[in-house]
Amino acid sequence: MWSNCIICSAYLNKKKPCPGCRAPKEEHTRKSCANCLKKKCAVEKGLNYCFECDKFPCSKIKSLNKRYLEDYNIDIIENSKKAKENTKKFLEEQVEIYTCKECGGVIDVHHKKCSDCGVEF
Ligand SMILES: [Zn+2]
Repeated sequence: MWSNCIICSAYLNKKKPCPGCRAPKEEHTRKSCANCLKKKCAVEKGLNYCFECDKFPCSKIKSLNKRYLEDYNIDIIENSKKAKENTKKFLEEQVEIYTCKECGGVIDVHHKKCSDCGVEF
């Protein structure tokens, strides 16, 4: 699974923060996260990331990617390929991209604004 969780609005939510895609099912308070088929699939296959799978990108990832491209201009499949090549480098680049230039906070990718100072992106 793609799990740059830190920029996700669910993860950044202060009242009810998501523990992250890789947390055990019992820790997930959101139904959509607890019942996520992509997460379930990766766990069953013993994978840390979807890109480790023979079937990547499968239909589940392709439909998610379509939505992310349309809504957030993020290409999950391309990102996964980069992460597969060099996970450390990919995550460093992500930190660079999603750090607020105003306050150093984390940018909430789903709301397109900084989770700390609220500046919009
Ligand atoms: Zn900020």
